[in-house]
Amino acid sequence: MTCHYCNEEAVAYSYGKGYCREHFNMYFRGKVRSVIDKFQIKGKIAVALSGGKDSLALFHALHFLKMDLIPFYINLGIPSYSPASEKACEKICHDLGYTLQKIDLADYGISLEEHEKPCSVCGTVKRYLMNRFAHENGCKYVATGHNLSDIVTFALHNLANANIMNFRGNRPFLPGREEYNMVAKIKPLFYLTDKECMNYTSINNLEYVKEKCPFSREAPTLKIKKWVHAMEEEMPGMMLNMAKSFWRLEEKMDDEIKLNRCSICGYPSYGRICKFCRIAGRSKGK
Ligand code: SF4
Ligand code: ZN
Ligand code: ZN
Repeated sequence: MTCHYCNEEAVAYSYGKGYCREHFNMYFRGKVRSVIDKFQIKGKIAVALSGGKDSLALFHALHFLKMDLIPFYINLGIPSYSPASEKACEKICHDLGYTLQKIDLADYGISLEEHEKPCSVCGTVKRYLMNRFAHENGCKYVATGHNLSDIVTFALHNLANANIMNFRGNRPFLPGREEYNMVAKIKPLFYLTDKECMNYTSINNLEYVKEKCPFSREAPTLKIKKWVHAMEEEMPGMMLNMAKSFWRLEEKMDDEIKLNRCSICGYPSYGRICKFCRIAGRSKGK
């Protein structure tokens, strides 16, 4: 098949159309641009790099869209997987001319291996550290590599667990709240599927970490994602429609969640002391 837009050979396919390298890059960056433009994103963006294909694709696309970026990496201290991930982040930063900023979970006395549910602790600490890093570095936004497949999977997982209060974060843009030291969160890959992100990394030779996190085997969302992808094969466009529905649903929910500022660290918290400070054992005796 040739590219839908020129006579070059197609190297990627999306929604029944073939794309050459150049036109696929234009398509992919155009989808990222549409989120940036829609929410009028201007100013410094902290980009969370994990070493995986999605965050590298996101960083690469934002770089070529000439956004003002500070890439950073959270070292989770997972043997073998973390050093390999860090190497992938270092490589892309070096290639694109950035200095990678690093945060070490061990500096906060947290070890995922010591926890019964490492993924749940991991999610909490990553969210906290991403926001804190962006805030301390004068960024108005933190960008993460969640793609369309992740967003639909996450929403379905919450629905499947009757976890309606966690039914947030399905939107490509969540505004910040300065009074709580909370920066805006953006998901510029909102319109792009797992497969499209994979195509972008391979077309642009981005060396992402191939190793899987040893805890990922326990992640219940993996099965849901497989199922979502199988459904998408049968009904192309289903994921996008679902994501748009979840986005609308979330908008209808009360936006003003009751927040406090953690009495220990000053960052947002639902209770008096935030989850991060509890995990880091800072709440003892408070
Ligand atoms: Fe963190 Fe779990 Fe993902 Fe590993 S699989 S990086 S522990 S959320
Ligand atoms: Zn082309
Ligand atoms: Zn705190």
